[in-house]
Amino acid sequence: MTENLNPFAIAQAQLDKAAGILQLDADMHAFLREPMREFHFSIPVRMDNGRTETFKAFRVQYNDARGPAKGGIRFHPDETIDTVRALAAWMTWKTAVCDVPLGGGKGGVVCNPRNLSAGELERLSRGYMRAVSRFVGLKQDVPAPDVGSNPQIMSWMLDEYETIHGYHEPGVITGKPLLLGGSAGRTPATAMGGMVTIREAAKLLGMNLKGATAAIQGYGNVGSFAHKLAYEMLGLKIVAIGDEFGAIYKEDGLTPAEVSAQMRRAGKVGGTPGSQEINNAQLLEMPVDILIPAAIENQLTGANADRIQAKLIAELANGPTTPEADQIFKQKGIYIIPDFLCNAGGVSVSYFEMVQNSYGYYWTEELVQERLDQKMTTAFHAVHNMAEERGIETRMAAYLVAVNRVAEAVRARGWV
Ligand code: NAD
Repeated sequence: MTENLNPFAIAQAQLDKAAGILQLDADMHAFLREPMREFHFSIPVRMDNGRTETFKAFRVQYNDARGPAKGGIRFHPDETIDTVRALAAWMTWKTAVCDVPLGGGKGGVVCNPRNLSAGELERLSRGYMRAVSRFVGLKQDVPAPDVGSNPQIMSWMLDEYETIHGYHEPGVITGKPLLLGGSAGRTPATAMGGMVTIREAAKLLGMNLKGATAAIQGYGNVGSFAHKLAYEMLGLKIVAIGDEFGAIYKEDGLTPAEVSAQMRRAGKVGGTPGSQEINNAQLLEMPVDILIPAAIENQLTGANADRIQAKLIAELANGPTTPEADQIFKQKGIYIIPDFLCNAGGVSVSYFEMVQNSYGYYWTEELVQERLDQKMTTAFHAVHNMAEERGIETRMAAYLVAVNRVAEAVRARGWV
């Protein structure tokens, strides 16, 4: 039988397994399996050639029992409602596992931002905000960037929201540029949080990180900062890096300076001087100490999990590993830092951004990093301890911590 790679089916299967271990009551389980609200939009955009193109877009508010929904907006040609549902579910567990007072949501626009001019992208971003504006807000649902979207897109969306409502409300969107009320340290926050979890995992595994080897898949916001921080903060030797166009290998290690210079020159990692071209499969299957998926879902599946050689997998991407791959990794004894724990640094600093926006007073980058480190270290050990206590794998342990917290809030509200 072929593996079901629908991300929402995977998210539900993971929850089902956690509900079984937790002996969650059937009514609560049924409620937590589905999004509370979802919106589908058709957004007309005047293109540069004078024609109007209609883009499909979504916003899912999966669960807001613990606070306003929170989650990025992805701009991707293959976006589907099920991807957005899955990502919104994972946001619910993520905000719970790192214990910020927020729920889970996610948005998506079916488009290829690379094929749009700056003007078209601005009109699409403003069109998305016009469509969603009555359903988002500081006390309802707070969007942020994700794959294919960035601080410039957040600025256009913020401006559209404030124009519609007639007042300033910077906390309605996070991941903004600093000059519009962004937080110091937000851009590297997802990668930085991931590094904290790698540091803590390495201590438990007795792995010396200085000179340990790593491969990183993805070189966008998360992957490029993961490279820089893994190199500077942890002393890792990053021997392979990939993006959607291919991958590169260098036995002595790739420096952030040389790969980012190639990105600026060519818009892809391929062609970095002194590196050897490899493909994405070779990147994932490389004999490294640490594998860092930082691109998209379903990269580690039943089809390749057997060939993965890393000792530690730090999932900075959302949903890179399928349940079949999880089973194989369990047998192989690979330590997994599961996605909604590993990449919770982004939402933690987004929450800090909302707090700073609320009182209009801004923290230094050092203070942001210190508080981020505390949040991630606490979350990592809560999950690790749960895994030890119950004798279960770390992904299920993360689910148990998160689902318990969300279920408690749902119960306290009297919903179920
Ligand atoms: P991004 O768009 O900035 O970068 C994505 C990278 O992945 C690019 O280098 C792209 O070339 C590469 N990629 C895309 N398709 C690929 C493929 N088929 N094979 C190999 N590489 C491919 O996105 P990002 O913000 O860096 O997000 C990356 C991952 O991290 C996503 O799973 C996202 O949901 C997750 N994440 C992001 C944040 C955040 O703060 N940006 C927070 C939490 C989780």
